Amino acid sequence: MFIDSHCHLSFPELRQQLPQILAAMQAAQVEQAICICTTLEEFPEVLALAEAYPQLWATVGVHPDNEGVQEPTLADLLQRADHPKVLAIGETGLDYYRLNGRSIADMQWQRDRFAVHIAAARASGKPLVVHTRSSSEDTLQMLREQGQGVRGVFHCFTEDLATAEAAVALGFHISFSGILTFKNAAGLREVAQALPRDRVLIETDSPYLAPVPYRGKLNSPAYVPHVAAELARLWGKPIEAVAQQTRDNTRALFGLAA
Ligand SMILES: [Zn+2]
Ligand SMILES: [Zn+2]
Repeated sequence: MFIDSHCHLSFPELRQQLPQILAAMQAAQVEQAICICTTLEEFPEVLALAEAYPQLWATVGVHPDNEGVQEPTLADLLQRADHPKVLAIGETGLDYYRLNGRSIADMQWQRDRFAVHIAAARASGKPLVVHTRSSSEDTLQMLREQGQGVRGVFHCFTEDLATAEAAVALGFHISFSGILTFKNAAGLREVAQALPRDRVLIETDSPYLAPVPYRGKLNSPAYVPHVAAELARLWGKPIEAVAQQTRDNTRALFGLAA
């Protein structure tokens, strides 16, 4: 019934418990999950999960927070994306939240890396999984200038309504994580209420950001129904309707088979 559009099952804390997590997903009616890649070094492990389990899928990309890792070329991304279980390019994007004493001008390497991913999405026709934190203006500007025809998702969305609406206008989807259930996320709930229903996805971003009532604990795709329950409350709809809407949206964006 539910799809987790963004999780990190290749991370050791989840990988070690994979049989239990797959069983918990089944019990919670989470029927598919997209395992998101964050480095080229990690990609073989992400792909192995997708190849081993029919309910798991993969992406290829390098996260903007990862430094000291292999820098992807366009060919690196396209070669790995050319696989039926690799649905998207990412996660990628810009993150100016932790500059570690640097200025935004110093982060040109992040913008260069993002540009390579945008080019890979254009060339492959696959959607882009965008991570953006404290960098929404530059993220939107780069997509406008370089991303003609590119679709995708702003994942684990925490920015304001104007940013969400600009992303939607560019043809992007907006994905909400467990943060939507946090007490201090009233502004984010207003964003979720205002968006067109056919552009909204749900995710866990596990192992991080477990939704209430598991906040602070290890997160897994089995908890994505808690994000759906919060959306159901905000939209005044039954959770089954939210499950179906977000599942249809995820399948349409990623070309995901049922
Ligand atoms: Zn992210
Ligand atoms: Zn992530």
